Amino acid sequence: MNHFDVIVVGAGHAGVEAALAAARIGVSTLVVTTNLERIGYMSCNPSIGGLGKGHMVKEIDVLGGLMGYAADQNCVQFKRLNSRKGPAVRGTRMQEDKDKYCKFVGNFLTNHPNMKVLEEEVKALVLEEDVCRGVVLGDGSKVLAKSVVITTGTFMNAVMHIGTKKISGGRVGDKASIGLSDQLDDFGFEVTRLKTGTPPRLKRSSIDFSKTTEEFGDSTFIPFSYRSEAELKLKQISCYLTYTNEKTHEIINKNIHLSPMFSGEITGTGPRYCPSIEDKITRFSDKPKHQSFLEPEGVDSDIIYLQGISTSLPEDVQMEFLRTIDGLENVEVIRPGYAVEYDFVNPTQLNRNLETKKIKNLFLAGQINGTSGYEEAAGQGLVAGVNAANKVLDREDFILDRFESYIGVLIDDLVTKGTKEPYRMFTSRAEHRLMLREDNAMERLFKKATQFGLLNTLDRAKAEELISQQNSYYDYLNSQVINPTKEVNSLLSQNEITQIVKPYSLAELLRRPEVGSEKLRTLGYEVPLEFQVYDSVEIKIKYKGYIDRQNELIRQASKLEGLKLPKDLSYKSVKGLSNEEIEKLISVQPETLGQASRISGVNPSAIQALMIYLKAYQPPKSLRH
Ligand code: FAD
Repeated sequence: MNHFDVIVVGAGHAGVEAALAAARIGVSTLVVTTNLERIGYMSCNPSIGGLGKGHMVKEIDVLGGLMGYAADQNCVQFKRLNSRKGPAVRGTRMQEDKDKYCKFVGNFLTNHPNMKVLEEEVKALVLEEDVCRGVVLGDGSKVLAKSVVITTGTFMNAVMHIGTKKISGGRVGDKASIGLSDQLDDFGFEVTRLKTGTPPRLKRSSIDFSKTTEEFGDSTFIPFSYRSEAELKLKQISCYLTYTNEKTHEIINKNIHLSPMFSGEITGTGPRYCPSIEDKITRFSDKPKHQSFLEPEGVDSDIIYLQGISTSLPEDVQMEFLRTIDGLENVEVIRPGYAVEYDFVNPTQLNRNLETKKIKNLFLAGQINGTSGYEEAAGQGLVAGVNAANKVLDREDFILDRFESYIGVLIDDLVTKGTKEPYRMFTSRAEHRLMLREDNAMERLFKKATQFGLLNTLDRAKAEELISQQNSYYDYLNSQVINPTKEVNSLLSQNEITQIVKPYSLAELLRRPEVGSEKLRTLGYEVPLEFQVYDSVEIKIKYKGYIDRQNELIRQASKLEGLKLPKDLSYKSVKGLSNEEIEKLISVQPETLGQASRISGVNPSAIQALMIYLKAYQPPKSLRH
């Protein structure tokens, strides 16, 4: 019990995926977490996915992770966002039964082979010079490991704020983690503060829903995971839409000096894309109202999450402004909104495998790296877990590139540019987003998943079966030819499809805007019933021209990615670099020329200079094989 291959500190969304990835690879794994009741707990909104985020959940799934499968099993409302827009920006979002999701993930983790779970606080790392050898627990005992992954989320030196009240804690019900970030700081890491916030939780029975608009989910359920049946397990529930108004804003404005963000109590930067209501009415003062969704936290739960109204105003002010909102005239608050300020580690101090540059065998993942959101945390956790296990087994690093995944975009952005505010994923962050669609996650990542041994036998067989069905459908569409006979054209007309004047393959027909797989099925062709089989094939055929062009751009860009920069490269001896460029390159230590080109302040001329330098570069004798 005092020696493991991998120790994961924390069992939030990053910790769970990190631990499962390591254990799946086959190394002995210990998870140490302060609260066993809150494994995979959703600190804020009861939902998984969304634009850009849903894409990462699909990627996690193909790479053997749990998040998508767990979300499918505990979904209480399913929505496909942007379903009428182009395929690159469609995203899956599932509202979850929060307690059931957490129990499901907890059971899955604790019963997984190669896994031990311990309820304890990690106080410090066991360090031998610049190598991490394990952790020190709250009772002073040591547990040793070959790799350690820290995933402490919003907990390090965390302080919760409600008005002028300050309480030490990582979130309501959980104490702060004291010790770890000070040790990292003492070791020379740049550790700074960020902030996030959450809305009040309301008593369902105190709300008058007749004054709000009921919002339903989609009627057809499309799971995140290829391992899930397209069948919902839980009763589906509605959300309700309501709005703030001028009276609400007046009360908030009158009391804004009591909000810790405005009084100067909070110094950390908050999430730009999840602003508090105080922020919203200040930044968008011309808007007379802001929307808010009342989201039930579960099938049998009496708790309503007030999406869009995160606040850290004093409790009495929260109550006063809430009761001005339609439907909330008599509302009772179960838990007030609050903000939390915490330490994070500037992620430029990490390599692309998420190992720290300063301490070997130490990996960081999740909100500790300056991200915001469950999905961002889970994606990093998976990558860190695989790399922690690979380190133990002396295997190569598991790196996801920008052109193959959103997780690759996320990690590359973090380690190359760092972040000054909680980083959230958007489709606009990916320059190759037409290739990074939810529907083709399997095509993009299956090979890597098998190459790194991330899938168990059963899942691998399921994935292979899906790929084979997709390939068969693709071949069928390209090989089946229809002729412009009277019968064919009459059938096409009946189905509002323009007639054909020459032989057409089904693939060519599918390229027409008025034709989709479902229409081909109506015409009597052999279209697979499963959405997961036909959707990606249809998109691949319909958007072939764009996809080919994007592939060409990726091919050109990957030339730079393929050019590795030697670890011992002395930037000072490269002719043509400015002092600023030298400073930035030394600080980030890019692993490839492609990564160097994305460092802000490193100009194209510097990349040219590095290219010329690399051509003439000879590694020192000690590094030559
Ligand atoms: P967490 O889910 O926070 O998990 C951390 C884990 O580490 C926990 O299991 C904890 O018990 C454990 N732990 C901590 N310290 C130790 C230690 N020393 N020893 C052992 N175990 C330890 N995200 C958004 O995208 N939008 C929002 O609006 C938003 N609002 C938020 C509001 C609040 C109040 C909070 C707390 C979080 C909010 N989040 C929001 C963030 C979201 O919860 C996180 O992004 C996500 O949970 C991060 O996952 P994680 O795995 O990195 O950390």
